[in-house]
Amino acid sequence: MKIAIYGKGGIGKSTISANLSAALAKAGKKVLQIGCDPKHDSTRLLLGGKRIMTALDYMKNTPVGLQRLDRVLHVGYKGIVCAEAGGPEPGVGCAGRGILSTFALFERLGLDMNTFDVVVYDVLGDVVCGGFAVPLRQGFADTVYVVTSEEFMSIYAANNILKGVKNFDQGGHRLAGLILNSRGTHENRHPVKRFAQNVKLPVKQTVPRSELFRKAEMMEKTVVEAFPDSTEARAFHDLARDVLENHTFYPARFLNEDVLEQLILQDSPPQAQTDAENRVPSKAPGINEKSPEKKFKVKSSDKKSVFLSKSLLTREPLHGCAFSGALATTTQIKDTVTVAHGPRSCTNIACQAILSAGFRLFTRKKILLENQIAPAVISSDMDESVVIYGGKDNLVKTLEQAMEQNPKAVFLVTTCPSGVIGDDPVAAIHEIRQKYPQIPVIAVTSDGNLRGDYMQGVLNACMEGAGALMDKTVTPKSHCVNILAEKNIAFNAESNFNTIADILKEMNIDINCRFVRNTSVEQLKGFLKAPLNLPAYTDYFGRLMADFIDERLGIPTAKQPFPVGFSESVAWVREIADFFHESMAGERVIDTHRRHYETMIKTYGHTLKGRRLMILTYMHNVDWIVEAAFDLGMEVIKVCILNFSQDNLFITRYPERFEVETNYDPAKRDKDLERLKPDLLLGNYTPKNLPYPLHVDIIPMCPDVGFYGGLAFAHRWATLIKAPVTEGWKNDAL
Ligand code: SF4
Repeated sequence: MKIAIYGKGGIGKSTISANLSAALAKAGKKVLQIGCDPKHDSTRLLLGGKRIMTALDYMKNTPVGLQRLDRVLHVGYKGIVCAEAGGPEPGVGCAGRGILSTFALFERLGLDMNTFDVVVYDVLGDVVCGGFAVPLRQGFADTVYVVTSEEFMSIYAANNILKGVKNFDQGGHRLAGLILNSRGTHENRHPVKRFAQNVKLPVKQTVPRSELFRKAEMMEKTVVEAFPDSTEARAFHDLARDVLENHTFYPARFLNEDVLEQLILQDSPPQAQTDAENRVPSKAPGINEKSPEKKFKVKSSDKKSVFLSKSLLTREPLHGCAFSGALATTTQIKDTVTVAHGPRSCTNIACQAILSAGFRLFTRKKILLENQIAPAVISSDMDESVVIYGGKDNLVKTLEQAMEQNPKAVFLVTTCPSGVIGDDPVAAIHEIRQKYPQIPVIAVTSDGNLRGDYMQGVLNACMEGAGALMDKTVTPKSHCVNILAEKNIAFNAESNFNTIADILKEMNIDINCRFVRNTSVEQLKGFLKAPLNLPAYTDYFGRLMADFIDERLGIPTAKQPFPVGFSESVAWVREIADFFHESMAGERVIDTHRRHYETMIKTYGHTLKGRRLMILTYMHNVDWIVEAAFDLGMEVIKVCILNFSQDNLFITRYPERFEVETNYDPAKRDKDLERLKPDLLLGNYTPKNLPYPLHVDIIPMCPDVGFYGGLAFAHRWATLIKAPVTEGWKNDAL
């Protein structure tokens, strides 16, 4: 059971929440109380007066990778678990955004609200903006109590809160009633009763004005703890009983401001309420529905891991934004439409990146992928009015446009602006599902770079987006594999895939599903058929994907990535052949390719034999090219590793055969060239201002895979080295 206690700031809702939690705990319930008020004193009386580190302060001071749930949860009176969201000083920043970030933190660190009997959210309700409305969203509070006093501004705030609840509930029922925190005499209570009567809510409990609250506060305790036999404590035990036993919920109704003013400021007692008037109850809270996009966990695990991109983990500057990464991934799934919730410019930027990857693929490899040339994306074209008033209606309309194309699924990807204002995509999805129940709509957590970088967006789109389509009832198949972690913006992703598919075919192994590139809803549905995953890369991203699939879906991933060069290909073929008990087929494949490889070595070896090679690169594994050079009889004199890469360590199978310098300072290059006098300099970019004429060649960051990945350059080098070094265009580099 999850209860949100809403009320105007300073009205006493924190005292009420803490006393209610104390009464619930005394009744033997396991309680979690989360303070969602920037003044962060909701749980103080449950913790003997201790002010705890707020979630926002913790986030500000702790790198993402080091964050731990137990640092923001504290155990208080009778085992009540307490947390405070915190927020900025009055007049600066955005407190609502703080609440959004806090809930995102709890979700990321795996706080499972379902392990508590009761969760109490103490929420500031002066402004029901997107942030403060988080507890009203689906999956959070299933019961709402509104605290008010007899004062006009307090009732005004209560009315606003009802408006907020109505926006989220769309006719649902989860209001339990009002709690009157009385500031005055019995007669003063008339306005609250009139208000309750008009919004058709019961006043569930009246907390009397009493000195005991001040006394208990001085003892840094709740009244329930300090004065357990008092009338005041009994009021909270009654309220706790109501919370536990009440099954009657009401829809939210609110009054327009003129009516409210007249009603509150008139000086007459309320009309007696009739049952028929006041009760439009529902037996079901109507909001317990679990978000379908979170259902795809197959393998049970007590503690779910958190999957973060490297930039987020190490607090590096963010590379790109999560929106862009998510969009580049969901658009790889055929027959689907992606709705980009945000300004048109965000969609434009993200689509430009997809298009340029598509054109590069076409011009370099003559491969045309429809989803990279014409990605199926619709922008909700968020403008300023949406930022001010919220974007749900706008989003519902855009989702409708997507539905009219009759896709097999629709993805919803959000930008920074929608994240900042706290738009709730789930509410829009809920509405559209009523109209189009047959088409799945899947929200991908992205919120531009509020949620992370490009890679985080790719991860989220794979896990939450594509993952949600997987069918857990499929029958497993032998001799097929899934492909993981291809790089969608690499120009050779498709040709590399084809090379791998050809080698697998030689061993009678099919590709089941590509996760997630140039794939379809049908293939994603059948993902769980395959007994093995093959990672395209085992860099940070590749390892993360493998861990995720192993933990959540229980499918193992091969150790080796797509191989580059002969030795890697041999080891890779053997690993896969062993897994499928196809060792003989594997050896046959290796023999065929060995013969061809040796022929190529003979063809180019006589020109390249004895030539000296120096490599200046950002890559931390260059064995694919070093191996080819050695097989061609060349000498590798030095490998210089520049400082940035996805991984941190340089690895080689030939540690004794050449000089290596990691974290290489490019300023040393000319001295090294003068000293070592290589015949050929290889790098990832065209070198500028060389000290003397020298043959140079570019090696790609993402090399072509397969047995001939390293040898692919042999023909070029052989031609290059035969030509005079100062000839034609080669002078350009000088
Ligand atoms: S960083 Fe934010 S504003 Fe910029 S493109 Fe990404 S989503 Fe849009």
